[in-house]
Amino acid sequence: MVAVDKIRALARLIRESDRTLALTGAGISTASGIPDFRSPGTGRWEKVDPAQVCSVQAFERDPAAFWTNNLEWWLACVRAEPNPAHYALARLEQEGLLLGVITQNIDGLHVRAGSRTWEVHGHLRTCRCLGCGRQHEFGFLVEQYEAGKNPPRCTCGGLLRPDVVLFGDMLGTDFEIATKVLSGCQLLIVVGSSLQVYPVAALPRFARRLVIVNRDPTPWDDKAELVLRDDIVAVFTALLQELGLEQKTASRPG
Ligand SMILES: [Zn+2]
Repeated sequence: MVAVDKIRALARLIRESDRTLALTGAGISTASGIPDFRSPGTGRWEKVDPAQVCSVQAFERDPAAFWTNNLEWWLACVRAEPNPAHYALARLEQEGLLLGVITQNIDGLHVRAGSRTWEVHGHLRTCRCLGCGRQHEFGFLVEQYEAGKNPPRCTCGGLLRPDVVLFGDMLGTDFEIATKVLSGCQLLIVVGSSLQVYPVAALPRFARRLVIVNRDPTPWDDKAELVLRDDIVAVFTALLQELGLEQKTASRPG
């Protein structure tokens, strides 16, 4: 159970702010079946070194090995569904209580839940050709990989790369836009991010007030007005209830 006083405090902070944003990380998507990279014991990056497998250098060195090492995890992202926490953020936006979501996640689940989203680490909807620059659906690449064509290629023969930010890449325009959107932000709700990856981890400094909903401690906890270490889906379900915005459930006959 999430403490009622904390949910009431969160609801009050949201009502008092007229410029609220959410900043989300892997923790919001674990309830959708996507493992959190940094969870002790199960985190992906405890088993493999990201700089080794998910980097520009790894892609350039051996594109086929790059896809073998990364595609299984990315397909899990592509095939996942938004969970009630993603939908709750979209609902807050519909009610005018949230401007949108800045996310470190590449799973696209905020977009699919209907949020206005700045995806600072890119996404898996498309890929692009390093030869002619043409953008293709990500599925175009997956079809080739699953037919045994590795590395997948553009119709021009050029190598395809994902539209995600790899280690060694510059951050894209979404990050720049996110920093601008955040200026003047009265309330930032961090959800499921341990705030350990820079420069995203520096974004809370733009917000006047800060709330953190994350299972593990973050470097920003002592600057936050409110810290909730509870289950994320439970927090947002209780929050919608507190705000009188209960999610629609199956309609009852009669
Ligand atoms: Zn091409």
